Amino acid sequence: MIIGVPKEIKNHEYRVGMVPASVRELVNHGHQVVVETNAGLGIGFTDEDYVAAGAAILASAEEVFAKAEMIVKVKEPLANERARLRQDQLLFTYLHLAPDLPQTEDLVKSGAVCIAYETVTDDRGGLPLLAPMSEVAGRMSIQAGAQALEKSRGGRGVLISGVPGTDPAKVVVIGGGVVGSNAARIAVGMRADVTILDRSIDTLRRLDAEFGGRAKVVYSTADALERHVLEADLVIGAVLIPGAAAPKLVTADHIKRMKQGAAIVDVAIDQGGCFETSKATTHAEPTYIVDDVVHYCVANMPGAVARTSTFALNNATLPYIIKLANKGYKQALLDDKHLLAGLNVMHGKVTCKEVAEAHNLAY
Ligand code: NAD
Repeated sequence: MIIGVPKEIKNHEYRVGMVPASVRELVNHGHQVVVETNAGLGIGFTDEDYVAAGAAILASAEEVFAKAEMIVKVKEPLANERARLRQDQLLFTYLHLAPDLPQTEDLVKSGAVCIAYETVTDDRGGLPLLAPMSEVAGRMSIQAGAQALEKSRGGRGVLISGVPGTDPAKVVVIGGGVVGSNAARIAVGMRADVTILDRSIDTLRRLDAEFGGRAKVVYSTADALERHVLEADLVIGAVLIPGAAAPKLVTADHIKRMKQGAAIVDVAIDQGGCFETSKATTHAEPTYIVDDVVHYCVANMPGAVARTSTFALNNATLPYIIKLANKGYKQALLDDKHLLAGLNVMHGKVTCKEVAEAHNLAY
């Protein structure tokens, strides 16, 4: 199969669909890979790196789309990319179609076979191609929070770890899923005083076993939440209610009563945020202050660490790319119900129930 990797064109998107090492794997399986010139330059992969891995470099996205049978990307295709898709061409990338009618209509019109990373499932009920980005955001949240606590950002001037003779920062993580557990790992590693709140007893048991007392695990009632948030130096918002907007667990009144110079990192901002005072920010201006509490609410945190994020994503997508290339999409989808769950649009029809319902389209 001929696999195409165009350069991402969304503003400030430096990730790329395939790293050179993945190209090499596909070439070893007997496939051809065509990569748009400079596709990986923003994160340190030169055209020569791709050529050394066995790819051919093409001068434009137009040529990549024209030549490839399967397009592997990171972000959803923008209008000019959608216009290049053709009947039966395979598109494998993040799509997030439910809130995006124009994209859904264009993909339907294209006749292409569109598999979305975010709806591929696994045997444990997880979303294996979304998890790497949650891992990145969770780990990064402590790094972002540590900076927010510095005086120059308006923070309390507290060092997460403290030093011998001083208290470490009190870090409260709301939600102990993929984001929250990764945030807690880094906070514990930095010797913070860590508390994780969750509503799932199984999750609390798992975290308790993992941390063995190095983090407190607490059942998330309104009472417990208020108590811990008001004592915190840093609060990480990492809740998710699948398919719903994030619940506003921390109110504006809580924020008013928090310690002066405390910081919050609302990772759940991409689902509306779990702090009443949150509004989405960008990497260019990541923080703002409400009632002396520093807010960090960047909706695409993994973009800031695009090189790590690309490797993490590609490690998870590569086995599926190989399967699709080796078997062709028909057999690959028939053989793997979890990959089939990723199929969102095919030959002019929406094939994902949630996307069809969101847009009142036939399914
Ligand atoms: P997850 O499903 O793995 O974990 C969510 C956890 O929240 C679950 O353990 C659940 O039990 C818990 N929860 C639900 N209601 C709760 C409550 N009332 N109190 C305490 N805990 C509660 O989800 P995840 O992968 O960790 O993602 C968390 C959020 O981070 C999502 O909104 C996701 O979209 C977002 N995210 C944002 C970025 C970003 O760049 N900002 C990147 C990745 C993920």
